[in-house]
Amino acid sequence: MWVGGLPLFAAGSCMRGAAPSPRAAGSPNYAAHVAELRTRLARAAPDSVFHMVVQAPFVVLGDESVERVRQRATDVVAWAVELLKREYFAKDPDHILDVWLFRNRGSYRKHCLALFGERPTTPFGFYSPQHRALVMNIATGGGTLVHEIVHPYVHANFPACPAWFNEGLGSLYEQSAERDGRIVGRTNWRLAGLQQAIRSGALPSFRKLTATTEDEFYREDPGSNYGQARYLCYYLQEKGLLRRFYHAFVAAQRTDPTGYATLQATLGAPDMAEFQRDWERYVLALRFDG
Ligand SMILES: [Zn+2]
Repeated sequence: MWVGGLPLFAAGSCMRGAAPSPRAAGSPNYAAHVAELRTRLARAAPDSVFHMVVQAPFVVLGDESVERVRQRATDVVAWAVELLKREYFAKDPDHILDVWLFRNRGSYRKHCLALFGERPTTPFGFYSPQHRALVMNIATGGGTLVHEIVHPYVHANFPACPAWFNEGLGSLYEQSAERDGRIVGRTNWRLAGLQQAIRSGALPSFRKLTATTEDEFYREDPGSNYGQARYLCYYLQEKGLLRRFYHAFVAAQRTDPTGYATLQATLGAPDMAEFQRDWERYVLALRFDG
């Protein structure tokens, strides 16, 4: 199986706001949470019909048919969570997260405003730590959903993860498949823009990319940050190094908060300028036929 999506134009930042501090320990009460959601929906969207599927640690809500919502909960949410945990994540998020799957652009825009009091800034979807919600226009494909699922897992397992790697890993899986029981990212729509940036000689060095603060990564993006981070992760994946890099980075986060030294070590300590030239040639030879 594969999940992916071809967006209409490049997404904005897909992380919104800071997460609230963790609640007191205890197992989440799904029945109470579902009851709260029903009350909230009755108040904010009384004319809409939503189906809910509990797929711990998520509650999946959608206004497509009940079969379709169930299918997405199994084929995308449960599938991605199982395979991502196999690669990277020992811990589930310690609270329930809502996955809102709006059936089209109109529903997405209308319900974002009604339920969260804000208009979406990307056409595909976003993760809101503040609302503990993944919010999707599911008509754009399941790829964004897998991307956004990565974020709460990174938050639970590697809270100090810098934006470049959080987004590199998330966006790697926005076009994903299963290979020998493992999740793999495929080439996708971000390739063309990245190849253009490489050809124009405008791409920052990996030292610069990995040193970006959250603000620099999201708000001072020359347009290539997501693509550069994604295809670095893609390269590591194809060389069989991505999983190792993730775990080495988590282990070294205090001494190497940007991940740059860990990246260099994982690559076998090459000259990084030379590595970047090789990587750029590698990326220029990739194809995406979506
Ligand atoms: Zn993201």
